[in-house]
Amino acid sequence: MPSRGVVIIGGGIGGLCAAIALRQAGLEVSVYERAEAYRPVGAGLSLWSNAMRAFAALGLAGKVAGAGASWREMVIHRWDGQVLSRLAVDVLCREVGQPTVGLLRSELQQVLLRELGPDVVHLGAACTGFHVEGEGVRVTFADGRQVLGDCLVGADGLHSVVRQRLFSEVRPRYSGRTSWRGVVDVASELIPEGSQFELYGPGARFGICHLGRSPEGTWRMYWFLLAPAPEGGQDAPGGHQEAVLGHVRGWMEPVEALVRATPESAILRTDIHYLAPLPRWGEGPVTLLGDSAHAMVTDMGQGACQAIEDALVLAKLLREEPDRIRALRGYEARRRPRTAHIAELSLRSGSIRYLRSPVARWGRDLLMRALPPSVVLHPLRLAVGYDFLGSKEP
Ligand SMILES: Cc1cc2nc3c(=O)[nH]c(=O)nc-3n(C[C@H](O)[C@H](O)[C@H](O)COP(=O)(O)OP(=O)(O)OC[C@H]3O[C@@H](n4cnc5c(N)ncnc54)[C@H](O)[C@@H]3O)c2cc1C
Repeated sequence: MPSRGVVIIGGGIGGLCAAIALRQAGLEVSVYERAEAYRPVGAGLSLWSNAMRAFAALGLAGKVAGAGASWREMVIHRWDGQVLSRLAVDVLCREVGQPTVGLLRSELQQVLLRELGPDVVHLGAACTGFHVEGEGVRVTFADGRQVLGDCLVGADGLHSVVRQRLFSEVRPRYSGRTSWRGVVDVASELIPEGSQFELYGPGARFGICHLGRSPEGTWRMYWFLLAPAPEGGQDAPGGHQEAVLGHVRGWMEPVEALVRATPESAILRTDIHYLAPLPRWGEGPVTLLGDSAHAMVTDMGQGACQAIEDALVLAKLLREEPDRIRALRGYEARRRPRTAHIAELSLRSGSIRYLRSPVARWGRDLLMRALPPSVVLHPLRLAVGYDFLGSKEP
């Protein structure tokens, strides 16, 4: 059986970026994705300047930015419209030298797939396990296929099979919140172009941003709601919109208008889980990347951005270090503290966003109005301004 070089399990954003970066580093690479096809998922994604810096290093920043819309400002509101803070995102972008971009997840996937070209990504390939064999690793799939690789990268998301085989005791934790996400094309811009709106209500947070123009010239808007819910809860069939409205009725416009304009089929509900930082990410020729290693709560919009950073660092280490097992351990040593730091910042920033008690919310809102926006922006600066390809500590 011929060796396939680096075998990547999972063709999500992390796996596809890793394939591009590794190939640019001169390595042979193949991606095995469980899904039978890439379907256009109606969800948006914020790519902060740190992710755009990675795309610039891959020569893809122009294509990625061109597929979405850039933001300059984040305006944080109380649910009824009172402005709590205005964050100058463009200052961070200038510091990093890259924009912050909102785009459809599926558009990003298409940019990455086009870059990879045919024959790299194998669809309908659900990994079931692996075992280390001699100098390499044998990977097994649900359809009976087996593949031999020099290294194995588990980029297979929150419920990673590769991670389960390495560390069976690790379980994702439920954050106590679920998310609803919608994408809708509307005739008017609804919020100023270049702005992202966030609204804090009792225990819940709503976000709105532009994803650019649709092919028909209308405005493509992305919204999300995070709210407390029991793990595994479901909406009644056809009931996503009603469930969201149940949380945001009476909130400032255009919240209700956006939700009402979104077709039921364009609303996704996803529970938010995260992983406690893992003490190790791999063994021998096997490592993890993206959510499989460091799934985090979504409050800083950094989960995919960190997977993209992982991809660049993995490729850099494998290019520079001839001993691939040392390279993998070197990659993990670089990425574990950085991702644990961002996961911790995300958890902390979530803890002030979802306050329920009226007194606590009153205090938070007062503080947010009083604090200079540069202080409120500080956690984002830590996330976005870090030189992940350099040698500085996180
Ligand atoms: C509501 C919400 C909003 C978010 N917003 C943002 C945001 O704005 N910005 C941001 O940076 N991040 C955001 N995130 C986080 C982001 O979605 C994840 O961090 C990112 O998708 C992780 O990428 P990944 O490639 O590691 O994993 P995934 O995207 O989960 O991809 C894993 C892939 O592996 C495949 N797979 C799984 N098991 C197997 C198997 N056994 N064999 C083969 N293939 C397999 C899956 O089909 C999938 O394609 C958000 C997350 C949520 C839930």
